[in-house]
Amino acid sequence: MVRFDEISAPAPKLEELAARYAGFQARIIAADDAEACVAVIREWDDCLRELDSWQALVHLRFNQDTTNPDYKKARDACDEISPKLTDLAVKLKRMILESPYCEGIANEFGATAPGLWRAHVTTFDPAIESDLVAESRLEAEYVELTASAEIPLRGRVYNLAEIQKFSQMQDRDLRHEARKATWQWFADNGGALDRNFDELVRLRTGMAGKLGFDNFIGLGYQRMCRVDYNRDDVDRFRSAVREHIVPLAGELRRKQAERLGLDRVCEWDLAVQDLRENPKPLGDHDWMLDRAQEMFDEMDSELGSFFRLMRDSQLMDLKNRKGKAGGGFCTSFPGYGVPYIFANFNGTKGDVEVFTHEMGHAYQVFQSRNQPLIDYLWPTMESCEIHSMSLEFLSWPHMEKFFGGEAERFRQIHLSEALLFLPYGAAIDHFQHLVYENHDATPSQRHGMWLEVEKMYLPDRDYGDMEYPAGGGRWQLQRHVYLNPFYYIDYVLAQTCALQFWARSRDDYEDALKAYNALCRRGGELPFKELAASAGLQSPFRSDSLEKAVSLARATLGANRP
Ligand code: ZN
Repeated sequence: MVRFDEISAPAPKLEELAARYAGFQARIIAADDAEACVAVIREWDDCLRELDSWQALVHLRFNQDTTNPDYKKARDACDEISPKLTDLAVKLKRMILESPYCEGIANEFGATAPGLWRAHVTTFDPAIESDLVAESRLEAEYVELTASAEIPLRGRVYNLAEIQKFSQMQDRDLRHEARKATWQWFADNGGALDRNFDELVRLRTGMAGKLGFDNFIGLGYQRMCRVDYNRDDVDRFRSAVREHIVPLAGELRRKQAERLGLDRVCEWDLAVQDLRENPKPLGDHDWMLDRAQEMFDEMDSELGSFFRLMRDSQLMDLKNRKGKAGGGFCTSFPGYGVPYIFANFNGTKGDVEVFTHEMGHAYQVFQSRNQPLIDYLWPTMESCEIHSMSLEFLSWPHMEKFFGGEAERFRQIHLSEALLFLPYGAAIDHFQHLVYENHDATPSQRHGMWLEVEKMYLPDRDYGDMEYPAGGGRWQLQRHVYLNPFYYIDYVLAQTCALQFWARSRDDYEDALKAYNALCRRGGELPFKELAASAGLQSPFRSDSLEKAVSLARATLGANRP
């Protein structure tokens, strides 16, 4: 298998590529049976895998060092050319969809691909090319701005990823100070953050208009390729979160306050569950990777050998450093059939969570590497997050390796936080609907919208003396709002499925793992609801899905609290 430093993905030459596409088009037009079309699609797919590897590498490099001028230049060039590549691909997709052999093509690859292509073609027109370039620029600006944060605390300076570790510490004054310093950075940069987002909203709304949508919501859904559910389904799902989870979350927070000996939990207390230090991994980065190897070997031989490959091939960048972009993600080089994971370890239990999460993505895309189409390597995002969030739960029996005697506390906190996440995730989604529906709102009106949404989903949020989030600025910490509009509900939908995997793994671990493996291998060959059903998961859109998860979790947390 290829090592990371052997991966080379040269930038495409647009003229050569256009000529290749002209060839594909001519052959689709001249085809006199489905077989001829299928042959073209296979060749085109190889071409897409190369392009995807190049785009992935350029973006990864930029995230690894946002201050490197060469990486930034390469990213700008990639963003500049990407809409042209989309244009070529969309034209070909249109042609295939209009071909008399479309049905035969669907017989070969399944009906999912034509469905996805139908969504893709609605999201692009050459008229929005320069808008897409501008959108990428604004997104890069947000990444650079937040990656450059230098937050002073007690004589030292931290970046955003690093300073978050203080939120988990026992010293309440220190937590408060760290949070206050973090929000001060947001207050100081609030103008730039508001302007950046304001431009994004206007730009996205403009693109939606040019493509014939009422506003960006419709376009946003199409971009996420939501082919088997719609805005009404999501709306109902959020109502179920309000009905079933918000009261449970209130209960969990009240118990947390009791354990902490407080009247109520303030924002700087949210990540601390009791008066003991949160469980922390008992060693450093290298030690953690050794434990991870043992864990995966014990879980499943395929998982074990996959992790060995990731490590031997240096397909991970997990240490936090100056200038590195925040967050964690998994990307892949489909031309080579290998994934890559990116994170920012800060010594907290979050390292184990992010790591198992991103490994879930990586394992899935590796398991589905032999799918016939690039569109099937990853499913749509709400399904992708099932793989990642479920692996977090499936790794539970091995948490002793990382946390020793604190493993059980880790599990309880993990479950409790998985539930507490649901209202927050739904709030972020609801907020985005308001933002794009009322796209002419001013930045300060947007902050007002967030406060409204907070009242519905997070009614007990208390920011104390921190003016910036108290004034409605909390959402600006959530990268997805800037970078991946409408993505966020995917985590909430997926968590509802992951909780089902969790429940199953407690009944019959081997059976749950088997179903998980099979789901990974299926990649994106089916849309969300069918994929979930194929793994025996109940659709989150069914009204009783959340209720069931809640009653089980309530029993577990009630019986043995952290
Ligand atoms: Zn994820």
